[in-house]
Amino acid sequence: MEYNRIYNFNPGPAVLPVEVLEEVRDNFMNFNSSGMSITEISHRSKLFEAVLDDAISRTKRLLNLGPEYHVIFVQGGASMQFCMIPMNLLGEGRKADYINTGIWATKAIQEAKNLGKNVNVAATSEDRNFCYIPRQFNLSDDADYVYITTNNTIKGTQWHNFPDTGKIPLIADMCSDILSRPLPIDKFGLVYAGAQKNIGPAGVTMVIIRDDMLKKVDEKLPTMLKYTTYVKNNSMHNTPPCFGIYMVALTLKWLEEKIGGLGQMETINKKKASILYDFMDSGSFYRGTADKDSRSLMNVTFRMPTEELEKEFVKTALENGFGGLAGHKSVGGCRASIYNAMPIKGVEELIKFMKEFEEKKG
Ligand SMILES: *Cc1c(COP(=O)(O)O)cnc(C)c1O
Repeated sequence: MEYNRIYNFNPGPAVLPVEVLEEVRDNFMNFNSSGMSITEISHRSKLFEAVLDDAISRTKRLLNLGPEYHVIFVQGGASMQFCMIPMNLLGEGRKADYINTGIWATKAIQEAKNLGKNVNVAATSEDRNFCYIPRQFNLSDDADYVYITTNNTIKGTQWHNFPDTGKIPLIADMCSDILSRPLPIDKFGLVYAGAQKNIGPAGVTMVIIRDDMLKKVDEKLPTMLKYTTYVKNNSMHNTPPCFGIYMVALTLKWLEEKIGGLGQMETINKKKASILYDFMDSGSFYRGTADKDSRSLMNVTFRMPTEELEKEFVKTALENGFGGLAGHKSVGGCRASIYNAMPIKGVEELIKFMKEFEEKKG
């Protein structure tokens, strides 16, 4: 392949579009005729302001965000949001509903509880090792929010229809499927994603928050942990993760201009996932671990007849130019992460390799 790159199926940090990497490279030594690289310019300069504005306006266009939504960039990874959300949005003596669909949601629940917050686990799929998305929920009628994880990176499941929560806002961890498909944003009071799965490098988390949520924020919270700080200062209360934001802007440009937006992206993502799942379903050597109606379009998790074969598969795959196929350390097995930037060709080549491996070992 070009530049001797492999097909990168890593779960995160993950593959980025080649065009984005090339643009970073081509502009690195002298960013926009400044005589400096993007990592050397002031975050208060017009040059960087334009980058930040570009990242924000592209997000707004891609998701059709109304003026009531704010796009901010926060550090501390997605995991920081596990505490910021309840700190900012779950009031004293109030409660929040959480739907537990996997390891990341479990962590978010634990973090809210550690803060002494009142959490109602409205549904969980733990009974079958999180291999499905629950369809029935024990929702409270007075919750401050309902929290979901739209795509479960480790377990390979994804919400295809969001729960109806009436007037109660949804809050979503969208780390591994943000901007992978159109989104009915009106249902959501806040969504967030660490950039490193689908929209950029590690070190920056995109948060989209609605005006009514900001009204709940207690101004006595630490400055850096308040959403209002980021909204009031356009993510520039302190030095933002400039390079990360720059790469997010370029990735969103690719999504808008090269791919043609979220509808097109969804079509491509569905195609990739369906050829891979169809191939697995056509035999019994590769066995998908998620229930069919809950399968993720982003992380395809599967098992093979033995753990030895799985290890050999991951190793042989890498030798043949397919990386990152091991399952999460907590669950084992195999996983192919096929985020936005993975081309259809990469999945087709992976399927060819899987066929050959099965012929030799099956
Ligand atoms: C990767 C991931 C996280 C954790 O992200 P960090 O930036 O490492 O904190 C949280 N939620 C989901 C769904 C993820 O995929």
